[in-house]
Order: sequence, then structure tokens, then C-alpha cells
Amino acid sequence: MSGAPVIAGWDHVSSGKVRELYVPTGTPDIRSASELLLVASDRVSAYDFALEPPIPGKGELLTRLSRFWFTQLSDVPNHIIGPSSGGTPVPAEVESRSMHVMPLEMFPVECVVRGYLVGSGWAEYQQTGSVCGVALPQGLSNGDRLPEPIYTPAYKAPQGEHDENISYEQTVDLVGADVAATLRDLSLHVYTEAAAIALERDVVIADTKFEFGQDADGRIRIADEVLTSDSSRYWDARADGRTDSFDKQIVRDWLSANWDRQGTPPVLPEAIVSRTAARYAELIERLGA
Ligand code: ATP
Ligand code: MG
Repeated sequence: MSGAPVIAGWDHVSSGKVRELYVPTGTPDIRSASELLLVASDRVSAYDFALEPPIPGKGELLTRLSRFWFTQLSDVPNHIIGPSSGGTPVPAEVESRSMHVMPLEMFPVECVVRGYLVGSGWAEYQQTGSVCGVALPQGLSNGDRLPEPIYTPAYKAPQGEHDENISYEQTVDLVGADVAATLRDLSLHVYTEAAAIALERDVVIADTKFEFGQDADGRIRIADEVLTSDSSRYWDARADGRTDSFDKQIVRDWLSANWDRQGTPPVLPEAIVSRTAARYAELIERLGA
């Protein structure tokens, strides 16, 4: 894993699987920070494992996607601090893969929206006829579009632990009835808007995950990355079938075929790395992001 870059004016405070978090130099801790810098690396993770080698250009492309969607979805308050709002300058050499954001009190809910039946949703549907407690019509096939998008939240586990699917009622216990309803309604709204915009450009957003937080004034804002190919499944609407993906499914598929998920994952071959990088770039171009 590559070390966090040194950034003038900012102190590194933590590393996620993919991103590095910074606060302005001299800030004692995250809680007292008035601004944060989220810097996307080129690291790729799958099945919760950080993989080697990195995908060249990935951090920049995913940051571009997030920015594109924050702009498209401007009716929903977000965590971006605009370049005109002042604050600590972001050095030019990291600008293209950084997001300068307001620190929020994050809700421990991963707000998942699924518009199509695929992956773990498809596996569960075959067993139970429902996905995360949401009953679905009979006779659906792998990759089918759902009659309407469904909200299937997960508990955001502390660093290093696995997230866990939970019911809507459990989100009420976690964050209260009003916030739970707001998170659900905003998630379905943002997914529906974005999926329509993407489809005009021949791109299907099969599913996605959002995170929200609350600012110092109690306002709920959409945070983290939005609708990136790390947080979403993107398919080519021009391709046959529903599996021609613009996301890291290429990496997942290769890993499934070449690794039994015991011990350290194998190093990704150059062909998989370059194909993944090319697909990320193609998605940006198709969306006009
Ligand atoms: P996670 O499952 O927590 O996302 P990760 O390893 O994927 O783990 P990264 O996505 O690399 O972590 O790091 C980003 C972290 O920053 C996440 O924990 C996310 O919740 C947090 N975050 C994003 N936006 C904000 C914000 N505005 N204020 C505070 N924290 C934020
Ligand atoms: Mg994350």
C-alpha cells in the first residue's frame, strides 16, 4: 500500500481503504476541524481487501465522477466547500483527486438503493423471493430491472469490520424516525434522478450506496463520494445483457476465478489493471463528466 502523500497546509489524520483524510495543519483532531480534505488514491479494493497494484488514474477519475454528480444533483445539500468559499488552499498537485469538504457528523447507515436485481440481491432473491426484507414479484431473472428502486440500508461497521444489512426499522432505532425517513427519501430521490440522467447517455446505474451526515446547524447533507464506480454498479445500456460493466466488476470477476478468498489476494495481472482503467475512462466520457 502506498503511503499518504505529504500535502502543504494539511495534516494527514487517517487512511481508508481507498482515500486519505487530512485536516488543516495545526488542527488537534477531526472533531475540531472546520474543513477536511478527502484525497482519493489509485488503490482498488474488492471483497473488503485492498489489492495490488493500484489502477493508474483511478483516484482522479473517481473524483471527477463525484464532482459531476454533486453538480447534477444540486437540489440536495452536499458537503463540498467550493473553491470560492476560501479556507485552506488545496495545492495544485493533489487538486484533481481531492474533495475539500465540510466535516459532518456521519450517520452510521450505508444508504443502498437498488434499481436492478444483481449480486447479493440476486442471490438472496433466489433463496427467499425478497431482498433485505423487501418482497419482490416472482419470476425475476438475474440483472432484471426492479418494478421500482428499493432502499436496502446497511449498518456502517467501524473501520476493519464488515457492514451488515439491516431493516428500515433498525435504521429508525439507530438515527430516529425523522432522520431515517429523510435518509431513505433522499437516497431514492438521488438514485432516481441520477439513473434517469445516466440512461439518457446509455448508461445503467444498477445500484449504489450513499452516506449522509449532519452539519453544525443540524442540516442533513449528502457526503462521501457519490455515484462513483466504487460505490455503484454501472452497466453499458448499449451492450447485450446486463453485465458489461464500467466498474470494478472486472476485478471482482478475475479475483473470484483466481482466488479462494483465503490469505492474501493475488496481484492483479497487467491486463486486468489496464482494462479496468480503460473502462473507468470510458464511463467518464460516456457520461460527459
Ligand atoms: P468506509 O467503509 O468507512 O467508507 P473506507 O475504507 O472505504 O471505509 P474511505 O472511503 O477510503 O474509507 O474513506 C472515507 C471516509 O471518510 C469514510 O469513512 C466516510 O464515511 C468519511 N467521510 C466522507 N465524507 C465525510 C465528511 N464530510 N465528514 C466526515 N467524514 C466523512
Ligand atoms: Mg468508503
